[in-house]
Amino acid sequence: MNKSAAATDTPILELDGISKRFVKHLDLAGKIGQKLGANVREETVHAVDNVSLTIADGEVVGLVGESGCGKSTLGRVVAGVHQPSNGRMFYRGQNVTEQNAAEAREVQLKVQMIFQDPMSSLNPRLRVSDIIGEAPRVHGIVPKAELQDYVESVMLRVGLDPSFIKRYPHQFSGGQRQRIGIARALAVKPDFLVCDESVAALDVSIQAQVLNLFMDLREDLNLTYLFISHDLGVVEHLSDRVVIMYLGRVVEIAPTSELFRAPNHPYTKALLEEVPRLDTRKRKFVPVKGEIPSPIDPPPGCHFHPRCPHATERCRVEQPALREVAPGRISACHLNDGL
Ligand code: SF4
Repeated sequence: MNKSAAATDTPILELDGISKRFVKHLDLAGKIGQKLGANVREETVHAVDNVSLTIADGEVVGLVGESGCGKSTLGRVVAGVHQPSNGRMFYRGQNVTEQNAAEAREVQLKVQMIFQDPMSSLNPRLRVSDIIGEAPRVHGIVPKAELQDYVESVMLRVGLDPSFIKRYPHQFSGGQRQRIGIARALAVKPDFLVCDESVAALDVSIQAQVLNLFMDLREDLNLTYLFISHDLGVVEHLSDRVVIMYLGRVVEIAPTSELFRAPNHPYTKALLEEVPRLDTRKRKFVPVKGEIPSPIDPPPGCHFHPRCPHATERCRVEQPALREVAPGRISACHLNDGL
């Protein structure tokens, strides 16, 4: 195999047993209570639990689950915002978890994150020229003399009028602000975008425009995406593959069309349950019955057992392993044992 073919075969991202826990420290009342003998202790939130995942260069992977399932935390680990508690992360074959600070910064520039709420993620006191131009200036990506031209070219790339370069975020609409957020991410020439509910705060018509922009950028810049969303319609439209998370664990991974045609895991099936609509242009999904349990004290065995219609005694005590259920498809459910 020649070198370039080998390089192409290396996944852009590989997560190997990534976990992320947060310790909720006691507040003052808790500390006093503890001193007085009350049964209070620090709590650990198991946000991400032993996640392994490989993403190919140029792939769009949708990461789906209810709020509180750990998908945003996993996205932040990938983007370098959080350090994992356990596990290894490889970026283009390099072990990021063992890199020194300078090397890790280089990877962080290559992996950029786009947030849900553009207003709170943009500094209201900075002009667009600074919001987009700051990182390329600081990291020496563009010489200072060329910075304005560069910022204007990035604005054009995301569909913003470059004559607005001196404006502030509040002078733009929600959709335009999200384009500023995208421009800020693109300005450091990333390979990989982590989009965390990036269109959720936008009107439906604007959502479609921003999703189209993401797909144009993928084509033109060969970007890879981890697209985090609770909106299955968006994920179906956009992704090559879908990862389903429940209470910090991956429960199913499948190519998008196969997952929507024939979901394997009972949780995926529950997520994909639709409400019949007269207007069939857009699918409408119903929320999964029952509450998602607390990640502080997740149920033993299969985390989904309190809500699963097929749960057995075994499900209450034994965690099902992720196993291949068809080529390119994995699922974690004891019902697959006979396959
Ligand atoms: Fe349901 Fe048991 Fe499968 Fe979990 S392992 S999804 S509880 S059948």
